[in-house]
Amino acid sequence: VRPEILDFKPYVPGLSEEEIKERYGLKQVVKLASNENPLGASPLAREAVARAAGRMFRYPQNHSPRLAAAIAKAMGIAEAHIVAGNGSDEVIDLLFRVLAQPGKDNVVCYEHCFSMYGLTARLCGVEYREVPRGEDYRLPLESLAEAVDANTKMVFVTSPDNPTGLAAKAEELQVLSGVLPEGALLVVDEAYMDFSWPPEEYSMLAFVPELKNVAVLRTFSKAYGLAGLRLGYGALPLWLAEHVRRARPPFTVNLLAEEAALAVLEDDAFYSETLSVVFKGRELFLKRLPELGCQAWPSQANFVMFRPPYPADQVCEELLKRGVIVRHLKSFGLPENIRVSVGAQAENEAFLKALEEILHG
Ligand code: PMP
Repeated sequence: VRPEILDFKPYVPGLSEEEIKERYGLKQVVKLASNENPLGASPLAREAVARAAGRMFRYPQNHSPRLAAAIAKAMGIAEAHIVAGNGSDEVIDLLFRVLAQPGKDNVVCYEHCFSMYGLTARLCGVEYREVPRGEDYRLPLESLAEAVDANTKMVFVTSPDNPTGLAAKAEELQVLSGVLPEGALLVVDEAYMDFSWPPEEYSMLAFVPELKNVAVLRTFSKAYGLAGLRLGYGALPLWLAEHVRRARPPFTVNLLAEEAALAVLEDDAFYSETLSVVFKGRELFLKRLPELGCQAWPSQANFVMFRPPYPADQVCEELLKRGVIVRHLKSFGLPENIRVSVGAQAENEAFLKALEEILHG
């Protein structure tokens, strides 16, 4: 076993609903821990999965060309840029394996961020460089550029950022892409871009064809409500997309995920209702959390990061006892903070009521 595996610390997902119910003897829980869709699954996606179920004995089409074409059309980018994967996690993994040489190359990111970049770097034997965040958790775009050297293959920016909800402007990211040396790719993880407003001020997707050193990652796990089916994609520069397609294992996007995604891309009502519920819930959290004595950060995502006036681990434990699951940010290196996903209206209210009871008796 490779030495980096012997002490490898795996990704830490939040506890599942079932685990929480069993541990606390609860019948019902409100899960606001993984930034999933507050509406559940799209009705059109459910029907599509039911229709396709009889074909599950067949392999899916390799590289999901129908899906790549539909994503390309929806996003206004040429199909050749799109590489779909088993969650955007798989696309992250593929980028490392295609671009970074073990023992030689490095990638650069900032502290307290989504852990898969660092974990994948370690698994691939690639140096992971972490720069400090700016004041009040700001995305440190200038420090990222300073940490880059001739062996840097990727610079990761999550925007909107997990777990803070902060987002970088597209023009700032263009500046960063412009100062990177040749050979370094700016990877902008836009898992939460659907929830930022207005998207054209933030998204780098439109710049992928022209800039050549920018890749954008997107997912169907959040705004499209398909987290359990595992589907994400990269919008990659053409020179890179071709290599990633050759290197990827076959059939990692399953047949049901593909059908569900094709359907949900057509479900405009589901998508706009999702955004409307998230915008309203986010506004409610940003108003109520400070009233309850918590510091809350402005968010362009479908969650809000906040700091309660009492130790966050105890607050999370008390919320759990009341059947509310949120994400304590200890695993992000922010043990004083909590991330709460925006849920359906009743879930948001249940969370706020439980929090009020804990903080104010
Ligand atoms: N990037 C970020 C920033 C995320 O927060 C997540 C979800 N936790 C992902 C990627 C992974 O998305 P997927 O479900 O498509 O693998």
